[in-house]
Amino acid sequence: MITVVGSINMDLVVETNHVPGKGETKLGTSFSTHFGGKGANQAVAIARLGKETGMIGACGTDSYGEKALKSLKQENVNTENVFLFPNETTGIATIIVSEADNRIIVVPGANNLLTSGEIERVKQQIIGSEIVVIQLEIPAETVQTVLKICKEHDVPVVLNPAPVDNFKEKFIDLATYLTPNESECISIFGENMEQSLERYPNKLIVTLGDQGARYYDGEKHIFVEGFRVEPVDTTGAGDTFNGSFAYGLAEGMGIEEAVRFANASASISVEKQGAQGGMPALGEVLLRLS
Ligand code: ADP
Repeated sequence: MITVVGSINMDLVVETNHVPGKGETKLGTSFSTHFGGKGANQAVAIARLGKETGMIGACGTDSYGEKALKSLKQENVNTENVFLFPNETTGIATIIVSEADNRIIVVPGANNLLTSGEIERVKQQIIGSEIVVIQLEIPAETVQTVLKICKEHDVPVVLNPAPVDNFKEKFIDLATYLTPNESECISIFGENMEQSLERYPNKLIVTLGDQGARYYDGEKHIFVEGFRVEPVDTTGAGDTFNGSFAYGLAEGMGIEEAVRFANASASISVEKQGAQGGMPALGEVLLRLS
């Protein structure tokens, strides 16, 4: 079983031709809701591949929380250890999409109430996992507690350091694998990527968008090439990569093989709309790899 510890959000997407300025009201062209949160997305990525997946997270008891939980269950994600907080809202991300750019406001709500206290209550699930996957849309202190439990009990843990503002230096030694994208890597370790990779062999794996991903194996730099596709929507590429990478490791692949598997899986996800919309089943990934 793979456990994902992280955020559960509802994405509220508004499309408009005109972004309002101060004091203005504008008409938008469409509104849609999507299941999101890096934690939930990564859990769905793993479950789609057919692996037993457990989610540790938090929701409110509002309609968004109910819908998010129902959807996770439908995706075969075990939600027994998702905590419900009646006096808090489920996390939401309001995304204003215009031709010029995307503007996003995240209200973490219940995600911020997932504290070390909750983690202690579900410690057995963490200890019993083949691998744990975690990101930074929950309190940093909670992340640290999970990383410490994993280290103490020799459970490998993939830390996807996003959003990077919530990253703490002490996470580096506690995590087994760190999977920033290029800009997150630079923001954590500085401009010299070669040097950073060499400092953390077989731990630091940097994703490079359509180029794939790279890491240092202790002797040489390994570039694992991405798959050439016509991208439709790259939202959730990183989430698909992380979930699939963890899946690969849990299935006994080495790092290079797991990264190649994750590149293939993420390349399929960018061919469809939405973060979760394009996440592939195992057969599709194997087909792309063949
Ligand atoms: P993030 O989505 O977190 O910013 P990246 O952009 O590095 O991270 O993408 C994560 C992974 O998704 C890449 O390592 C790659 O495997 C895959 N990917 C992203 N964009 C593309 C693309 N345009 N074509 C093919 N694969 C892609």
